Amino acid sequence: MAKKKLVIADMITVGELAAQLDLPLTKLIGELFKNGIMATVNQRIDFETALIIVEELGLDVELEKKDSTSMMSPSTRSERALSDKAQKRPPIVAVMGHVDHGKTSLLDAVLDTKVVSGEAGGITQHIAAYQTTYNGRSITLLDTPGHEAFSALRQHGAALTDVVVIVIAADDGVKPQTIEAIKFAQQANAKIVVAINKVDKPEADTNRVKTQLATDYKLVPEEWGGDTVMVEVSAKTKENLDKLLELVLLVSDLEELKADTDIPAEGLVIESHMEQGRGAVVSLLVEQGLINQGNYIVAGNSYGKVRTLLNFAGQPLKEAGPSTPATVTGFKELPQFGDRFSIYANEKTARQAAETHRLQHKQDVQATNISSTELLSMMTKRREKQLVNIIVKADVQGSLTSVTDALRLLESNELALRVIGSGVGNISENDIRLAASSEAVVYGFNVQLPPAVKRLAWQEKVSVRIFKIIYELIDDAKAVLTELLSPEVVETEVGKLVIKGVFRVTKEEVICGGEVTKGKIMPGLLARVFRNKEQIAEVEVKGVQRERQEAKEVFEGEMCGLQLKTQGRLNVEEGDKFEFFKRELVKRTL
Ligand code: GDP
Repeated sequence: MAKKKLVIADMITVGELAAQLDLPLTKLIGELFKNGIMATVNQRIDFETALIIVEELGLDVELEKKDSTSMMSPSTRSERALSDKAQKRPPIVAVMGHVDHGKTSLLDAVLDTKVVSGEAGGITQHIAAYQTTYNGRSITLLDTPGHEAFSALRQHGAALTDVVVIVIAADDGVKPQTIEAIKFAQQANAKIVVAINKVDKPEADTNRVKTQLATDYKLVPEEWGGDTVMVEVSAKTKENLDKLLELVLLVSDLEELKADTDIPAEGLVIESHMEQGRGAVVSLLVEQGLINQGNYIVAGNSYGKVRTLLNFAGQPLKEAGPSTPATVTGFKELPQFGDRFSIYANEKTARQAAETHRLQHKQDVQATNISSTELLSMMTKRREKQLVNIIVKADVQGSLTSVTDALRLLESNELALRVIGSGVGNISENDIRLAASSEAVVYGFNVQLPPAVKRLAWQEKVSVRIFKIIYELIDDAKAVLTELLSPEVVETEVGKLVIKGVFRVTKEEVICGGEVTKGKIMPGLLARVFRNKEQIAEVEVKGVQRERQEAKEVFEGEMCGLQLKTQGRLNVEEGDKFEFFKRELVKRTL
């Protein structure tokens, strides 16, 4: 019998698919749920996911994708070739380093603004960008998100970064996040400038830092014949800060950094949040073209008319050109961190572009969308791994992405983390209900838990954990997940023995004697019994004797008596070799 043929769009909501398949909605949602996906009727799934569902349900339907090649997704980075009118643009510099090594203080000193004071516990919460000038030339500085969240930047901002300044405290040396920063720079193909900071401190040891970098990471300073640019600075005394900026410009001059300005502006959303009275406040980093007030702009699914255009310090800008960080208002909805933006000729084309993006948007899979790869990987993970459901709420889109990305980094071979819900704003009753039905943990970052919601969480026994500092949140998640990891069995060899005589063998016991050939033997140990190099049994040591006296331990070279517990009758013979070991359950950490 021929299968029923159905032509569906590339993206389809769960509700539409159920209708098309003539399937009760609850059945479809149930099927998704069984596969570890919380779906709502309005959630969109892509064609491949629909295929999988049809197959899983054993439906007699053949799905065909509606041709939609004519629609171009605006979310892909434009690879436009430069015209000969292209102009020089400022370098985009990411400042990275281990926590407390002075990243923010350096930015602060260079910018002479109070960046540090706006932070909770000294952690920068979301990517923001600033600009400074040196010798009349501009430099754009990206402040990287809360340390563990490099992956957010890796994903969205890597292509933008021209230079990475790696900040290392001279009194502390290379640390895990320094290594991440080095890796990031290498993957992003960015130039590196190492800023060895805190040289004013008496404990500062710049040579040690340089040696670490040279021997372990092949970053050899120029003065030692290598080609890595390093500068010794102090954010406190402001020593060598000019030199740092000079070197940043020098290394960026090695690349010809240019962009066109007489084409429609494009770039990346680097921060977005809602503000009372101002609506969506969106920070953009321009890659090419010029943004002007009154322009029609599209980012992701949202569009609007640029109402105000401000520089990083909140002062009005006439226009924002390549490499410029700018803050705009006027978007009708909140675009997401990492969305690409473009300028359109009029409101109609802008609205259409946003709508097209809404329909086509599937690469940047958000928490509310499901892709086939995600579904497939969930299916396999569900079989192989322990699944932990998480709901994340944060104050702004930038921190939400940072937190979710950092949480995902905690995945291990045995634990799959699934963010089943996420959003900007306070924790709501809906979040608690979703958490209760899917046994999820709710993480809040810089958000509130209203009393009514708290009560509900208590009733539903939902664990809600709220933090103001990313790394504390991540540490907490680590602890929660570690609890879930099954302990590891660790065996440690303790001693060896060769049998010299057998005195008594019963169904579950052997009394014998032998010579300890290595290490020591004590009661409580386990032993593998070998005959002609082949293992014949595993036994437990009940008692050890030295000259017919019970002993706590006997050592290499000594003769001893053994009382062994066996599983069934074990005919131990003279010459059998025993290997004694301890078997312990060790709690694992992520
Ligand atoms: P971040 O976590 O990398 O952003 O580090 P911060 O900029 O918050 O600095 C961490 C701590 O180191 C703060 O207490 C700073 O005052 C201090 N610090 C930063 N730079 C210097 C420096 O050059 N010299 C000294 N003595 N202290 C510094």
